[in-house]
Amino acid sequence: IIELKNIKKCFDDTVVVEDFNLTVRKGEFVTFLGPSGCGKTTTLRMIAGFEFPTEGQILLNGKDISHIPPNLRPINTVFQRYALFPHLNVYDNVAFGLNLKRLPKQEVGEKVRRVLEVVDLEGFEKRKISTLSGGQQQRIAIARAIVNEPDILLLDEPLGALDLKMRKEMQLELKSMHERLGITFIYVTHDQEEALTMSDKVVVMSDGMIQQTGTPEEIYNEPKNAFVADFIGESN
Ligand code: ATP
Repeated sequence: IIELKNIKKCFDDTVVVEDFNLTVRKGEFVTFLGPSGCGKTTTLRMIAGFEFPTEGQILLNGKDISHIPPNLRPINTVFQRYALFPHLNVYDNVAFGLNLKRLPKQEVGEKVRRVLEVVDLEGFEKRKISTLSGGQQQRIAIARAIVNEPDILLLDEPLGALDLKMRKEMQLELKSMHERLGITFIYVTHDQEEALTMSDKVVVMSDGMIQQTGTPEEIYNEPKNAFVADFIGESN
C-alpha cells in the first residue's frame, strides 16, 4: 500500500534520515523503533505530509505522494501532544474533521457515536477534554483519527504520557483495535517491548538509518548487528 524509496531528509546541512527503504502492506502493523533523535518522527511526518523528503519517493498504491500536503492525503495522524482542543467537548473534538467535510449533522452524530464505542468511551460526548484522564484523552485522540476512516493511521508515541499499567492496557486495546478495524498502523516508539509485542514488522533505526527490518521474532532472535542486539537487549 505504501512504499518509501531511497528517502533522504536534510534540515539545512544536517542529514536526519538517509537510505530509507520500506514497504508497508495493507493492514500491517509496522513500528519504527529507535533511540531519541534517530529520525522516527521525521519519517512519520514525511508519510503524513508535514515534511517533504529532500530525495526519494513516497508511493501510495503506486502513486507518488511525496509532495502532496497532509490534508490531501488519505492518512491520519495521532501525535502524542496537541492532538485535542482542550476547550471543546469530546463530541466537537471527534467531529471536527467531519464538520470540515460538511457532512450532514445526523451522519456526523452517528459516526462519532460509533468510534466512541470502538475506544470504549460511549456516552462521553459532552465531557470537556480537560476533565478526562490522560488515557481517556489519548483514546479520544485515536477516535478522532479513525472517525475519518483513514487508510493508514500514524501513531507517534501515542502511549507516551501514560503510566505503566495504563500503557499495558492501552497496548492491548490498540492491538485489538488494529485487528478489528483492518487499518494499516505505522507506529513510533522508543520502547523495545512495546514494539516487539504489538507489531507485525519492526523497523529498528539509529542515526537516521534503518539498522534492521523484520518480524519481532527475527529482530529478537537474529539481530543483524551489534546496535540492534544492544538496543533490544536494554530494558527501559
Ligand atoms: P524523539 O523520539 O526524541 O522524538 P526521533 O527519533 O523521533 O526522536 P526526530 O524527531 O525525527 O527523531 O529528529 C531527528 C533529528 O532531526 C533530530 O536531531 C532533530 O533535532 C532533527 N530535526 C527534527 N525536526 C527538525 C527541524 N524542523 N529542523 C531542524 N532539525 C530538525
